[in-house]
Amino acid sequence: MENCIFCKIVRGEIPSKKVYEDDEILAFHDINPVTPVHFLIIPKRHIASLFEAEPGHFAVLGRCLGMAGGLAREQGAGDGFRTIVNTGRVGRQEVYHVHIHVLGGPETLPPMIVRRGQ
Ligand code: 5GP
Ligand code: ZN
Repeated sequence: MENCIFCKIVRGEIPSKKVYEDDEILAFHDINPVTPVHFLIIPKRHIASLFEAEPGHFAVLGRCLGMAGGLAREQGAGDGFRTIVNTGRVGRQEVYHVHIHVLGGPETLPPMIVRRGQ
């Protein structure tokens, strides 16, 4: 996709701090980290969001998730981490190229979603 930020990162047109790369997956540090460990795992092929995920994408999406634990440990989040995939307006997705956030260490993260009234 011509104007997709993450496709540009895949093509090397925008620099990134790479965590991992193979022929179909790229992982790189988030430019605006919210935790000490915060990187993104993406399929290199453009899939806009989980809404656009089709059976032909399932294998690479599964690989992205399957890589998370090993990469998190390598990046210093060996005590645990959280994966988040924001999708669409309600999920507050900002970049429409599917990505898995990996967030971790060393502090315990806040609750996943703050319950109303807390
Ligand atoms: P979303 O809200 O779509 O789940 O998250 C998009 C994430 O991409 C944000 O955490 C944001 O900081 C990150 N991001 C946006 N543009 C860039 C960029 O050019 N480089 C990197 N490394 N991260 C980016
Ligand atoms: Zn893209």
